[in-house]
Amino acid sequence: MKRLLHSISMSLSLLALMAASCSSTARSSQNAADSVANNQQLPSVHFNADSAYSFVEAQCAFGPRVPGTAAHSRCGDYLVSQLKRFGAVVTEQKAKLKAFDGTALDMRNIIATINPDAQKRILLLAHWDCRPWADNDSDPANHSQPVMGANDGASGVGVLLEICRSLQSSPASVGVDIILVDDEDWGNHNGDEESWALGTQYWTKNMHEPGYRPAFGILLDMVGAKGATFYQEYYSTTYAQSVVTEVWNIAQRLGYGAMFRNSRGGGITDDHVFVCRAGIPCIDIIDMRLDSDNGFFEHWHTTTDTMQNIDPATLKAVGTVVLTLIHSM
Ligand SMILES: [Zn+2]
Repeated sequence: MKRLLHSISMSLSLLALMAASCSSTARSSQNAADSVANNQQLPSVHFNADSAYSFVEAQCAFGPRVPGTAAHSRCGDYLVSQLKRFGAVVTEQKAKLKAFDGTALDMRNIIATINPDAQKRILLLAHWDCRPWADNDSDPANHSQPVMGANDGASGVGVLLEICRSLQSSPASVGVDIILVDDEDWGNHNGDEESWALGTQYWTKNMHEPGYRPAFGILLDMVGAKGATFYQEYYSTTYAQSVVTEVWNIAQRLGYGAMFRNSRGGGITDDHVFVCRAGIPCIDIIDMRLDSDNGFFEHWHTTTDTMQNIDPATLKAVGTVVLTLIHSM
């Protein structure tokens, strides 16, 4: 994903334009989260961080899951088999897409439907592909190497696998749809934002169910690193403020306030932006480091985004907050 440092400097006219174009989405997001009262007793949930960690580890054991590689193909099969094992109805979307550099990509979005008869539904997303180039590595010789993506990719998927497993033994009344999206990270830092999140862009134009309308969506991206800080991301607050408020409130009440900071971060071009533009309010829970040059954790898009930087405590916080919200609905 790509960072846009415009949260403070954005011109007022552009803000006004965005506010006008987003007003209907903002209204539906407000309605969506109204059902969760801020003062209601939070359900007690158990999110197994060791299990989530093992799912992150298992993905990395295949090697970097770069589209077009054997590691990508085998890991996709593994993800499908795990989601089925946890009782979800799994469908796959496959298509040929073209990356900004002309590369033909065999896209594979993996969709897990949990509690299919429930009317009220929540959408959860994470990207499962890895970036083909470690182009933020301090050593230029590594720029042609792939990223392992323990945090950038596998962490969000690991949390979602564990949520799926948990919902099998402790079902929620709400329906949950997990989409593991492909081809998020083959984007161009010097190009337009449409070069990113190709799998999600495909899905928004070809939803797995005609007229699919969950109450809201939550994207998990880079949710496993030591010392993570989750600020309220710009597009999330623009399109889905009530969902941001609810998630951050739950995090504070559960004692995760040091990780879920009650202040704004910048805007990030990530899968959720395209989901929002398709009319589904969606937030991004993403690790932002406001004291770093690029705004992300130090191993972002480097060859050292590996398991040694993954902390079960971060997976635990994010998984517990999201699972608590699911059981609150
Ligand atoms: Zn990335």
